[in-house]
Amino acid sequence: MLIGSHVSISKGLIGAAEEAFSYGANTFMVYTGAPQNTVRKPVSELKTDEGLAFMAEHGIEDIVVHAPYIINLASYKDDTFTLAKDFLHKEAQRAAAFGSRYLVVHPGAYTDKTAEYGINRIAEGINEVISRGMPDIFICLETMAGKGSEVGRNFDELRRIIDLVDKKEYMGVCFDTCHVHDSGYDIVNDLDGVIDEFDKTIGLDRLKVLHINGSLNPRGARKDRHANIGADGTNPKGADNIGFEAIYRVVHHPRLQGHPFILETPWISKTENLYKAEIASLRG
Ligand code: FE
Ligand code: FE
Ligand code: ZN
Repeated sequence: MLIGSHVSISKGLIGAAEEAFSYGANTFMVYTGAPQNTVRKPVSELKTDEGLAFMAEHGIEDIVVHAPYIINLASYKDDTFTLAKDFLHKEAQRAAAFGSRYLVVHPGAYTDKTAEYGINRIAEGINEVISRGMPDIFICLETMAGKGSEVGRNFDELRRIIDLVDKKEYMGVCFDTCHVHDSGYDIVNDLDGVIDEFDKTIGLDRLKVLHINGSLNPRGARKDRHANIGADGTNPKGADNIGFEAIYRVVHHPRLQGHPFILETPWISKTENLYKAEIASLRG
């Protein structure tokens, strides 16, 4: 099983790999800088060679890069749309320099327009980014919780974007358990049914990455607030509405193997997280 968590890039790729190793992980996910802005250090300052050597020595592989969540490919505003395309194109090169094959992207938010508009705009943006030249990488559209005007609140919206992309060999999907639950899919009582629907709508061959999170909210709440796996009322961040058993079934499901499972569960204080314990208990 490939399992790890989001880790910090603040000490370069070597710092990220060492942090992941300290949690008992064999994969991990990074943002290439702060997730809420697009300021990025050159890759040459991120100790990439040291990081790749450490990963090879410690059996850490199939790492994931997450694009910052402020880029919005669905925006009708030309400056926002241009920034998103330029950033995504550079981010693909950075991900490849990290040896990653998976660049996770939130599809975007259509704001004052319509979902239809957003879907078309996102595909247009991706087509342009790919046409500028791409490394050997999958752009992985993330399943979203459906808060506000988020595109990707169901499998069909992701499929419609991919349908409009010319070079589909670059397209993948990231399945986020919190988001899928919050958008209304019943992964607690009918995981097999949800996987079937994903397969029929998008195709399981497009599944590349899974984000493994509990949810602070009931199914269908469209909130997107992550909980620690199986957390009860004593957890300072709140109780998990998905629950340990359901998440355990996800990470052990035979149809979901071979992809990195990445925890994005909350830190319980400024200095303490549960990644090590969560990884150990999910491995079982
Ligand atoms: Fe995400
Ligand atoms: Fe996620
Ligand atoms: Zn989320």
